[in-house]
Amino acid sequence: MEVPSFWLTQVDISPNPSCEGNISCDVVIIGGGFTGLSTAYFLKELEPSLNIVILEKEYVGFGASGRNAGFCMTLFGFNLSWTALRYGRENALKAYKYTYDAVSLVRSLVEKHNIDCDFEYTGFIRVATSKLYERRLKKEFDFAVKLGIEDAVWLRRSEIEEKIFSPVVRAGWYERHCAILNPAKLAQGMKKVVEGKGVKIYEKTPVLEVRKTEGRKFEVKVEKGKVEADKLVFATNAFSILIPQLKRKQVPAFTYIVLTEPLNEEHFAKIKWSRREGLEDSRNLIHYFRLTKDNRLLMGGGDVSIAFGNDISKDMNYRIFSHLEKFINEIFPPLKDLKVEYKWGGPVSVTVDLIPALGYLGDNNCVYSLGCIGHGVSLTHMNGLTIAELLLGKESDRTNIFFVNRTVIPWPPEPLRFMLSHAFRGILRVQDFVYDRI
Ligand SMILES: Cc1cc2nc3c(=O)[nH]c(=O)nc-3n(C[C@H](O)[C@H](O)[C@H](O)COP(=O)(O)OP(=O)(O)OC[C@H]3O[C@@H](n4cnc5c(N)ncnc54)[C@H](O)[C@@H]3O)c2cc1C
Repeated sequence: MEVPSFWLTQVDISPNPSCEGNISCDVVIIGGGFTGLSTAYFLKELEPSLNIVILEKEYVGFGASGRNAGFCMTLFGFNLSWTALRYGRENALKAYKYTYDAVSLVRSLVEKHNIDCDFEYTGFIRVATSKLYERRLKKEFDFAVKLGIEDAVWLRRSEIEEKIFSPVVRAGWYERHCAILNPAKLAQGMKKVVEGKGVKIYEKTPVLEVRKTEGRKFEVKVEKGKVEADKLVFATNAFSILIPQLKRKQVPAFTYIVLTEPLNEEHFAKIKWSRREGLEDSRNLIHYFRLTKDNRLLMGGGDVSIAFGNDISKDMNYRIFSHLEKFINEIFPPLKDLKVEYKWGGPVSVTVDLIPALGYLGDNNCVYSLGCIGHGVSLTHMNGLTIAELLLGKESDRTNIFFVNRTVIPWPPEPLRFMLSHAFRGILRVQDFVYDRI
């Protein structure tokens, strides 16, 4: 079976049987990515007797969860200062703490359940590759420090060069609390863990329709049957564009990755990178890059593509793949002859204000979650706990945080939405074009 990422070639994705006949349960979760799996996990932790069903249209990890770059990090929304502008400084700090705890949560899940997902607690560096980026990154760094974030160290060029050598990197912002991992292994690992707790996962089971019955239950239609449940979770992230109840809350944007053949000792002698930190540059449309366990270079980002209407099939973009290959040469000239062996892409979920959203939909028996953009690996796991608490009516700091049950600004209908999102991307690209050169 052809799979949409390098990571997915490394796991057994043989699907569970699809859902047939009429089934009833306490909670039905639509979507077998990190959000769906972690929600099921925490529901079982909090209420072991619950009868839980996950319905996944392809196989666990088919969506962004099996295709991402595997940075398990503290980033939230677009950036801290944007979150502060939109929701205030206190809330920006709360969001940071939520994601800080989310990184710790993923680490503890991996350790507790011995999930083999190549988890490496490497730290993370945002690097500046021009004078203007350096100025902007330093401003954002100073803002973070003023906000009270302690895990932030400014690295001058000479300090960065001790860690990693690139002729274009001028400065950086280092965070200790970040890991890199193989996301498909994490998703498949969590599948086993939740199945071990008694959760039933049906794969190759697209949900066709969701409605409320007269008895106030949820009826979820699939090709060969239906599932009736007291509570429902939409863990469909970017695919929510296909779900009538959610389609205006977010849009999918596609981000792309290229992966080289493994680096050898000579390469490392030239570029260093012995601590293997996750790296990102400071553009609006960032490049993100890291090493895999077998020392391949993963290079992603640089631009995104936006689809029209309900199109969710823009998984390949050769213009952006070629840009990423060129960018490898720019940032690491000694790696210019490395062969690119894998290319893929996937959808991230984008709200109008670039801030995640989760909360009740209709009534307290239905919860949705979306809008994590490219920062969902850790966040979705903490969201799973928050969703479980919301469904069980348990109040906590998490259920009271500002992005839970917030008012989500709806995207306008097409063709306005397409024009607006292109205009927005255009502004970001023009600014990057200027900043790249000064
Ligand atoms: C290329 C790429 C790189 C990224 N890099 C990073 C990164 O390094 N770090 C980071 O933190 N985040 C990153 N992200 C974002 C991160 O991957 C996501 O935020 C996260 O995986 C979202 O998880 P999820 O479970 O909410 O959604 P998904 O993993 O997308 O899961 C949704 C699931 O719902 C299923 N589904 C949808 N509709 C239906 C239906 N009707 N019936 C049944 N099932 C349905 C889908 O098949 C899918 O499996 C990246 C994303 C991409 C695409």
